[in-house]
Amino acid sequence: MYKTTIGLEIHAELSTNSKLFCGCKNDPNEKEPNSLVCPVCMGYPGAMPYIQKEAMGKVLKIGSAVSGEFADFTEFDRKHYFYPDIPKGYQISQHKHPLISGGKIFDIEIERIHLEEDTAKNIHTETGESLIDYNRSGVPLMELVTKPVIRTGEDAVTFVEELQLILRMLDVSMARMEWGEMRVEVNISISKNENFGDKVEIKNLNSTKVVKKAIEYEVKRQEEVLENGGIVSQETRGWNENKQKTESQRKKESSHEYRYFPDPDIPKFKLSLIEEFDQKNIKKELPKLPKDIRADFKQNYKLKETDVEILLHNQNLLNLFCDVLSEQSFKKEDAQTLANFLTSDSISLIDKFQDFFYTNITKDVLAGVVSMFTDNKISSRGAKDILAHIAEFGGSPSSVAEEKSLYQQSDKKSIDKLAKEIIEENPTVIEQIKNGNESVIQFLVGKGMQKSKGSTNPQLLKNALKSNIK
Ligand SMILES: [Zn+2]
Repeated sequence: MYKTTIGLEIHAELSTNSKLFCGCKNDPNEKEPNSLVCPVCMGYPGAMPYIQKEAMGKVLKIGSAVSGEFADFTEFDRKHYFYPDIPKGYQISQHKHPLISGGKIFDIEIERIHLEEDTAKNIHTETGESLIDYNRSGVPLMELVTKPVIRTGEDAVTFVEELQLILRMLDVSMARMEWGEMRVEVNISISKNENFGDKVEIKNLNSTKVVKKAIEYEVKRQEEVLENGGIVSQETRGWNENKQKTESQRKKESSHEYRYFPDPDIPKFKLSLIEEFDQKNIKKELPKLPKDIRADFKQNYKLKETDVEILLHNQNLLNLFCDVLSEQSFKKEDAQTLANFLTSDSISLIDKFQDFFYTNITKDVLAGVVSMFTDNKISSRGAKDILAHIAEFGGSPSSVAEEKSLYQQSDKKSIDKLAKEIIEENPTVIEQIKNGNESVIQFLVGKGMQKSKGSTNPQLLKNALKSNIK
């Protein structure tokens, strides 16, 4: 049996106002190429970089959220390599003194988190031209490196997804892999003993699904190589989605080939002397993290785990859910009902109406629908209809219920009358019930719902039927 060892290197573009070493705007949505550039981020000789501390603060927030240790001394280094997307001939990164050391997510330990600048983007056209867009050049990137402690593709994905959640909740990155805002590289080796095997790096992984597939493919491939007496060569491979396999790209440079040295243009920092980087303050100002929310929803609201995960992975839904919970009049014990409406019905409505959903489905609408439902004024079908109608056209729950006759009959006398009618009309069923087959009462409830065109509260009708049959 081979033992698999996986380490992750994850880059995330930080959502700052400006790039890292110049005043150019950091806007991932800017469509016009080379419109957010200046001599610094285009690497003109003699252009002087100056650091924007906003990005440093964001990396420290991430470090704090994963319980990493703040560097006391930190500096930036030049990492040399030649590539068209890196016009200076080096990238400004951090080598010996990363901002954060250690930390963990779940039980997966983190080696370090540092800050560096993103590269420009190469675009290869169908007609064979190679173009460079420098809008991305100099955008602040967080790089997080885990320790080589991950054993399976599934655990790797769990880590990546949790980091994504944390970055979004800290509001430091949107971390969408399909947009390239978050990029995952996997280092993977297998071995039969305690030593590490030869390490292969896999790049171009643009979704968590692909991370898992690539790891599983690579484990098998390396096993086959070793079983056939071969040697796994230390190299960089890429994922080919069409062929569903990894392919060799290039032999990997070792770190001394980058000729790192401290960048003389960027100041060095003693973080403890800088008030805005104070570890205690940053910790104190952290928003609620996924693990806090899980604990809160489970302990205080008894929410189902699957619902909590759906909410956590939909920031807008989660905000809406929390907004409704914070309403003074909202009853804590209705939280699961609210979650049900949000995690089932609303998801399909959001697919259909997109952001428009949030314009119409406000916290008041939701609180109203939930209380009408738990007060038995409307059925769950009625609640769904009301939400669908309001998502599309707007309006208030009570007026829509009125307009579409969705109020349930809860008036005791008329329900009693209905029950008596049904009993009279179904003597054989009544006989069955009297003979002990109580489950057929549901058939009578169905009859009553039909007769009243769905306007009766089924639970009250069932009670009325039971007492009348007795
Ligand atoms: Zn610039």
